[in-house]
Amino acid sequence: MPPIDLTRIPPRPVTRFAPSPTGYLHLGHVANAIWCWGIAQAGGGRVLLRIEDHDRGRCRPEFERAIVEDLEWLGLVPRGARWVRQSDQERAYGRAVIHLGRQSPVYACCCSRADIARRLRADRLDEWDELRYPGTCRELSLPPTDGAGIRVTLGPETVSFDDLLLGPQRQTPAEQCGDLLLRDATGNWTYQLCVSVDDSRQGVSLVVRGEDLLASTGRQIMLAQRLGRKEPALFLHHPVLRNASGRKLSKQDGATAIRELRGAEMNAEAVLGEAAYRTGLLPGPFPIAADRLGSLFR
Ligand SMILES: [Zn+2]
Repeated sequence: MPPIDLTRIPPRPVTRFAPSPTGYLHLGHVANAIWCWGIAQAGGGRVLLRIEDHDRGRCRPEFERAIVEDLEWLGLVPRGARWVRQSDQERAYGRAVIHLGRQSPVYACCCSRADIARRLRADRLDEWDELRYPGTCRELSLPPTDGAGIRVTLGPETVSFDDLLLGPQRQTPAEQCGDLLLRDATGNWTYQLCVSVDDSRQGVSLVVRGEDLLASTGRQIMLAQRLGRKEPALFLHHPVLRNASGRKLSKQDGATAIRELRGAEMNAEAVLGEAAYRTGLLPGPFPIAADRLGSLFR
């Protein structure tokens, strides 16, 4: 891991911890929390708490309750802390789409992922492969009915940004993903739209997240600019936890939930120490308390 240049962290940063209630917290989430809270503590800033429940089909209230409870148990979040929830921001997302449409065409799209893959003559449809939307519906003027997605036209611009850990980056969203999906065919606002709107409206100045999300940063900066954000957030992408076969730790892969570690009588400091070690912030799995995470970054 490259050294972290702390002089580049803005004073009093507002970072955010933004889990999706689609499963239980595991060590990969805790690693991200350690980066968020550690940097906020070291810089005298704060962590905004956000429930990313934009995907209504996959989110469950019981997972949300469990996530909040696990974070309280870890000592990261005080009892009764205020969370913002994406499902409460529907009107803001709707307004954002109207705003985006004043700058470049927004249009209905009836393509499924399979249609796009076929169009690209992809020989296999892998859930995690990025499919570049070829613009099939751009000129069709389809009605924006239920069952149609909504996309915004992207220009050819390249977005440059300086990742606080990974250094200078250049991305051309139109070449990576094509016209960006803002609302999907089931009526859900997309992750890309929601986080861009939220980070701008909620004053997040430093986005701290796993390096698996690096490819989507350029399009989020582009959306934020189009939405009128004068000074885009800074970004830091940190190493993600991987399983023995090198894949990112995930609930689909059976990562151990924090609740199970609690049940196995691991204490909070041991869980934080294990996650800090596995994300490269400690030389060994030494216990560390939540209010000491800033010391990992000084
Ligand atoms: Zn389409």
